[in-house]
Amino acid sequence: MTVPAHHPAPELLLDYAAGSLREVQSLLVAAHLAYCPDCRAQVTELEACGGVLLSDLPPEPVSDSLFGTLMTRLDTTIAAPAPVPTPAGKSLFPGPLRRAIGAEPEALEWVRVVPGVHLSAWGVSAGTASACLLRMAPGSRVPAHRHTDSEMLLVMKGGFSDEFGAYRVGDVASYDTGTPHHAVADADGECLCLLVQDQPLVFTGLLGWLLNRGFRF
Ligand SMILES: [Zn+2]
Repeated sequence: MTVPAHHPAPELLLDYAAGSLREVQSLLVAAHLAYCPDCRAQVTELEACGGVLLSDLPPEPVSDSLFGTLMTRLDTTIAAPAPVPTPAGKSLFPGPLRRAIGAEPEALEWVRVVPGVHLSAWGVSAGTASACLLRMAPGSRVPAHRHTDSEMLLVMKGGFSDEFGAYRVGDVASYDTGTPHHAVADADGECLCLLVQDQPLVFTGLLGWLLNRGFRF
């Protein structure tokens, strides 16, 4: 497998290493790390730096009740049911996503946006952010849309291109608020991506007018 050429923004890796990145974005970064030795090394280094900073802080006295609360939380975490593992090497999804979804693409339900372009019925959301899967048939186009907030795509199968570049397995495409782009799947195979958004997409043009009003084709 080739090494990814497009990575999450450095500040996302920093927040991820510090444990302060929001849940949905963390899922995408964790999935990217499964493909990317460079970002894994950076996160390891950042975590080590964070550990040194923490160890340099003077100790703070804590109450007995806080200690008890912490132990209760640890018990709760340990008691949580473990996700059902999928046999290694047989899943299309990297580990963190495999655990979050619990099924392979063929077992999921899909909602058609336009011919050749589907979104998974599976999704997660937390606050204003949400994630689902985007599936594009060979050569298909995602309808023109702009973003009411940021969007990230992680390619897990095939590839696509837009005005900003070509993205292959393991790559992360990031779009800022209001950035229009026109993604086209590679012609030689299906493209499957993890799609993370902070707000719903707004499709533009006549097709967008229909889609934004709930029409399906
Ligand atoms: Zn990377």
